[in-house]
Amino acid sequence: MSRGSLSSPLISALSRQPAWRCCCLRSRLGNKVFFQRYSSQHHYYSTEIAERLAKCRQEDMTFVDHLVVGAGVVGLAVARELSQKRNSNSSSTLLIDKNQHFGMETSSRNSEVIHGGIYYPKHSIRTRLCIYGKALIYEYCAKNDIPYKRIGKLVVAQNEEQAEYLYRLDRHCAEIDVPAEVVSQKRVLEMEPSVSAYLALHSPTTGIIDTHAFMTSLLKDLTDNGADFAASTEAVAIQFDDPGYRVLVSTGDAETPYMCINAATVVNAAGLWADRVANMLATQSKHDWRTKYKLHFAKGRYYMYAGGPKIKVQRLIYPVPDKHITSLGTHLTIDMGGAIRFGPDLEWIQSNEDYGFDRIVDGQRSAPSMDAVAKEISKYLPRILPTDLEPGYAGIRPKLQPPGGAFRDFVVQEETDAGLPGFVNLMGIESPGLTSSLAIARMVEKLV
Ligand SMILES: Cc1cc2nc3c(=O)[nH]c(=O)nc-3n(C[C@H](O)[C@H](O)[C@H](O)COP(=O)(O)OP(=O)(O)OC[C@H]3O[C@@H](n4cnc5c(N)ncnc54)[C@H](O)[C@@H]3O)c2cc1C
Repeated sequence: MSRGSLSSPLISALSRQPAWRCCCLRSRLGNKVFFQRYSSQHHYYSTEIAERLAKCRQEDMTFVDHLVVGAGVVGLAVARELSQKRNSNSSSTLLIDKNQHFGMETSSRNSEVIHGGIYYPKHSIRTRLCIYGKALIYEYCAKNDIPYKRIGKLVVAQNEEQAEYLYRLDRHCAEIDVPAEVVSQKRVLEMEPSVSAYLALHSPTTGIIDTHAFMTSLLKDLTDNGADFAASTEAVAIQFDDPGYRVLVSTGDAETPYMCINAATVVNAAGLWADRVANMLATQSKHDWRTKYKLHFAKGRYYMYAGGPKIKVQRLIYPVPDKHITSLGTHLTIDMGGAIRFGPDLEWIQSNEDYGFDRIVDGQRSAPSMDAVAKEISKYLPRILPTDLEPGYAGIRPKLQPPGGAFRDFVVQEETDAGLPGFVNLMGIESPGLTSSLAIARMVEKLV
């Protein structure tokens, strides 16, 4: 798998962990260890894979009620929610991921912010799930000793035009019932002496979370509830086999490279790969998913602050976002250890595996210079210098919105109308997917 040379602190933490022990497919195979190499070549599966799928024998199949494809924070939350349902009607849940650990992609390459839910259209699923998810995640963190801090954030305007946006945002917050308050330049200086602003909007319900601890806790919950997690297990072909789904998984194991799962319901929580997983059923769907669910990829780089004590902040600081909310702008976040980082920026890329921080494209570097990044940040943090910044890590947004396109909502869709009952697509789950994860899980549980 191609990874960038620089990885997030969370990826490093996950890599130090032993492969997760609780793997039902593995245990059914006598505890063989599966380490697979992932190939991104197939949009749709090959004839060889199709034949393997067709040849799956009933007696060799693993039967489950719910199969969740993808163990990022959303898949973990969904599997946990479904495993709670298990207790009431004794159904089974299996969560799989192609990587060696859970949460190694977008879920460990983000800002770790619990968002207020203030940016998106009033009636969008993104607004609804973010606000509900925020309440659920704070409650969950408090109950389960997950490190988090409700530190609040300032969205800072630098001129009259941006101030107008903040007034509109303030009215929007009132309409969606999310606490917010416009604060003057003088008040901003009192709150955050390092920050420069013409006007700001204070969002007190925004916070930060230790995402790794959150995901680890979700995994513990679901396995405690009797569900299973199989790492290094990739869904490579899916077929609707009325009344359920036949799923061929590759294991990377030399002796048993493929296995068959029969699932009554399948939840596609494959993040950056969700359109490809959905397209495994394209020929059986009544709709053309290849165009409906095409994902576009937008890389976001982070820059770590290494300038010492001259800059002190207590809250998250965000610039005014662009018109289509493609990105929230190169903002300042603080992690649970108190380290300051800036980002993510935005670069449209072709590959969902291109985590490289910088590369040469048509003779030009793809990453902006530190001078350019510092110039952008200095609009709200005047004392920042290019030498204060170090390259950090990059994440990739799975966007339904193409470059230059208008806002697109999250898709949380049970696909009976497409002729595929019990198949749930989670598509375009970019920000605020972490904040929304527990709410998405509740929504999915109601759909299956
Ligand atoms: C730069 C950036 C900053 C962000 N900041 C925030 C933030 O501050 N707050 C917030 O709320 N949200 C934020 N987000 C969004 C948030 O990180 C995501 O919405 C969330 O992590 C998505 O989780 P997921 O489980 O859907 O996807 P992922 O974490 O990508 O997980 C999908 C999983 O599916 C697996 N998979 C794929 N295909 C297969 C297959 N065929 N078989 C088996 N497994 C498969 C992958 O290996 C992967 O582990 C940010 C996103 C980005 C990119």
